[in-house]
Amino acid sequence: MTILEWLKAATNELADAMFTSPRLDAEIILAHTIKHPRTYLHAHGDESIDERHQEIANARLELRKDHVPIAYIIGHKEFYGRRFFVSPAVLIPRPESEQIIEMLKTLMPSTKPLGDIASKRLVDIGTGSGCIGITAKLEFPELSVGLLDSSRHALTIAEKNIRNFGVEAETIVSDLLDSYPYSPDIVLANLPYVDESWERSPELAHEPAEALYAPNNGLALVYRCIEQSQKRLTSGGLLLLEADTRQLDAIASFANQHEFNEVARDSFTIGLSKR
Ligand code: GLN
Repeated sequence: MTILEWLKAATNELADAMFTSPRLDAEIILAHTIKHPRTYLHAHGDESIDERHQEIANARLELRKDHVPIAYIIGHKEFYGRRFFVSPAVLIPRPESEQIIEMLKTLMPSTKPLGDIASKRLVDIGTGSGCIGITAKLEFPELSVGLLDSSRHALTIAEKNIRNFGVEAETIVSDLLDSYPYSPDIVLANLPYVDESWERSPELAHEPAEALYAPNNGLALVYRCIEQSQKRLTSGGLLLLEADTRQLDAIASFANQHEFNEVARDSFTIGLSKR
């Protein structure tokens, strides 16, 4: 079978199963399998695929038809322009989570004297793959960064990403801030905030439920995080939270009752400063 033939057949199968980007998915799977960039496929459509690669590509196509996310099939996902390893132990980095990084950059202008930043501790709660905390460290190397997650398996992936980027960051198994021994100056948190009753895509079934769902309309962990941050964050410290757009007003008023002022907002992110 040639590259073009495989792509046509795989695209048709995915299209019949109502996938939204069948051709792209097929190309990503085949390119990953034969270890070439996607552009190679376009230039070598007539080349035949060896049998072993065909078998692997077919198996991956079956996974995709079961709605396994592409990122889990190929083992990585882009975040803020960099490639992070992922596994089913971690939530797949979302483009909307880049808002936390953008907000951090707005609230921490690089014109600040270095000494000001150098002594600061940043912690990423519920780090998963580590994409948010590691990106923060790459953007602000002066910060001392801690990556927390309640899942040891998740931290194994975060540690793999730490090594891959050659950054310095501490990983700690911790339920929110419970086992973090310091007073943070900056807290970034993309916690589970989905309510189980919300309509959701079949792909979410393959992601870790403990990274997605929370009781109390999805707000239980966000509220606990605010309560802990009220006690632990240094005065003037920053708490940047991701949540659903519909939750941001409720979060702002809860935070206001817990010594926080809203200082920034985007569609999926709220920035709070400790009074
Ligand atoms: N935004 C994600 C979604 O739509 C949820 C991420 C999260 O719960 N932290 O699935």
